[in-house]
Amino acid sequence: MSDLLSQYAEVVGEQEIRHMRALAKGLHGARVVHVNSTKSGGGVAELLNRIVPLQKELGLDVEWEIIEGKSDFFVTTKNIHNALQGTPVTLSEPMWKAYEETNRANAEMLENKLKEADFVFIHDPQPAALINHFPQRSAKWIWRCHIDVSTPQPSVWRRLERTISKYDASIFSLAQFAQALPHPQYLITPSIDPLSEKNIDLPQEEIETVFDRFNLDRKKPLLLQVSRFDRFKDPLGVIEAYKNVKSFQESVQLVLAGGGASDDPEGGTVLGEVFEAAKGDPDIHVLELPPTANRTINALQRAADVVLQKSLREGFGLTVTEALWKYKPVVGGDTGGIRLQVIDRFNGFRVRTPEGAALRMRYLLHHHGKAKRMGQNAHNFVKDNFLITQQVRNYLALMMSLKEGEVSRLEVVV
Ligand code: UDP
Repeated sequence: MSDLLSQYAEVVGEQEIRHMRALAKGLHGARVVHVNSTKSGGGVAELLNRIVPLQKELGLDVEWEIIEGKSDFFVTTKNIHNALQGTPVTLSEPMWKAYEETNRANAEMLENKLKEADFVFIHDPQPAALINHFPQRSAKWIWRCHIDVSTPQPSVWRRLERTISKYDASIFSLAQFAQALPHPQYLITPSIDPLSEKNIDLPQEEIETVFDRFNLDRKKPLLLQVSRFDRFKDPLGVIEAYKNVKSFQESVQLVLAGGGASDDPEGGTVLGEVFEAAKGDPDIHVLELPPTANRTINALQRAADVVLQKSLREGFGLTVTEALWKYKPVVGGDTGGIRLQVIDRFNGFRVRTPEGAALRMRYLLHHHGKAKRMGQNAHNFVKDNFLITQQVRNYLALMMSLKEGEVSRLEVVV
């Protein structure tokens, strides 16, 4: 067994690795291309950074491509993203034109790679229209949707659906996100990598460095949310929840840690709103972190007393998985992928309002024994359900079934 695979075996057991290798045998040398719209920032880049090396290790010939675009393209795709997650926005014709034209230009740049591939995984809506430029394709094209499309704006979904229908299969994270499409739909949950810098165990001294580095108070319980500055992550609701906790004379501090993503043009505006809401309170720490700050985020998640992910919409929420893995019960928004991960009272709490979040945070701060047991459940739950080996195995199973053409209309892999 290779070094990398034996390291995974230590975490997930040899049987899981044997299973993965058995599936990979049938795909040895298969040319796989993943395409998304950013190299860093956000969950998709986080996932691809870890999945691509593991798929290579298993003998597949894997490449990862990023589409390029100007600001009109990324403004449009952010609007598409918002509309698909239910925000009432409409897209103008010039916006759709920018979307289609940028996809056409990228199709030209990636033509050889995509023509030579056996499997093409297109992540999210940004590069979805590439398929329109490969009418004679021989590869299997799979649309991997990472966002919450349970209640999309009908006009935006209808327009995109014409393109998505051309794919050979699509993957969603939850059954509620599946759509009426003329091809097999798979349910595969995202995952975290226990061997990555973001998730490996850290020595206690390293965890504690965050207190001095970020001017935090060792004596005050630490509430944490790690997220891009995005309205769906509800950072203002988090500040409101923290203020509510504080109004009960609790001595607490809040860290909102986040960075941008090159395909997210709204981050700066939301960050401005966050600074405004945090103004004048020295116990709110807004940290702008670079995309390389994986160990820092790891340390913050381990140093936190309570981790929040108060999203209003969430495709999956890797930050939730990361915190659960680190034995932290999570107070999470009752939405999308968080429902799959946070089981109320077992490994955290699902909340709908800032008041609800405050109530649950106060509970966790005052019931240490219970919080510890929930933290243990949290770790075990991720180990059983959301580690990278399982996701890669599911991708292999999907590729095998598409290769062999043995698929029913709704295939549930998880
Ligand atoms: N992340 C990061 N730096 C930041 C903010 C987020 O590295 O400043 C990481 C976070 O640890 C997680 C991913 O980006 O791995 C975010 O994924 P998630 O599914 O939670 O949300 P998304 O950003 O994809 O909506």
